[in-house]
Amino acid sequence: METLLEINDLNTGYNGVSVVRGLNLHVNAGEVVALLGPNGAGKTTTLLTTSGLVPIISGEIKVFGKSVKGRRPHLIAREGLAHVPEGRALFYQLTVGENLRLGAARGAADVKQALAYFPILAEIMDRRAGLLSGGEQQMLAMARALTVKPKLLMVDEMSLGLAPIIVERLLPILRTIADETGAGVLLVEQHVNMALQVADRAYILSHGELVTEGDAKELASNRSLLEASYLGETSSH
Ligand code: ATP
Repeated sequence: METLLEINDLNTGYNGVSVVRGLNLHVNAGEVVALLGPNGAGKTTTLLTTSGLVPIISGEIKVFGKSVKGRRPHLIAREGLAHVPEGRALFYQLTVGENLRLGAARGAADVKQALAYFPILAEIMDRRAGLLSGGEQQMLAMARALTVKPKLLMVDEMSLGLAPIIVERLLPILRTIADETGAGVLLVEQHVNMALQVADRAYILSHGELVTEGDAKELASNRSLLEASYLGETSSH
């Protein structure tokens, strides 16, 4: 199976200070991988570094087999990496349709395909993004990412500010996207149990270090390991 993302012995952080240390992680085509852990563990920093937005201190990140070191974010994105950042980063003054068309690489056909995963957006194409509910905004952010037909989709805390019932509806869509398009999905999520239900595998970071990794179903059934991981009290490798 094709490995879309490979992170080897990564140290990354800010101003030369590592907030992620010695991280090894990979995502294969068609897989949903959850990156979990308490606040400040380094999850967002890992995604930002993969996108080329935070420089690597040491170690290696390969996206589609090529090192991202020193490469510009838009060039990495162009090869098929889509990143839905925390906070969604929409154009709130523009309509749903305008937000989607701005993202689309090849126009209307890509928008139509992205909308197939979020049909409710097709009914509100003329509404301003700023007037949508949190759940609708998150759908728009994900649909926009899909318009570029990503091979690897990274979604950072999609559930932030959303009611659990909305999260329960949205997370399985990521599973469907991976199954139907063969894209790999790397998901940062605070709703651990829900994330483990849709993921194939998961990694748990605590204080910048990997404390647990494994099969999502096995982790979901091992509450004591999960809890210990969140407290940074275990090591499985
Ligand atoms: P959260 O769920 O809170 O977003 P996280 O696991 O995504 O947590 P990061 O946002 O990656 O964690 O933060 C990891 C560490 O890096 C934290 O200690 C944070 O304070 C620090 N940090 C994040 N952004 C910056 C920045 N721009 N400059 C300096 N330190 C930062």
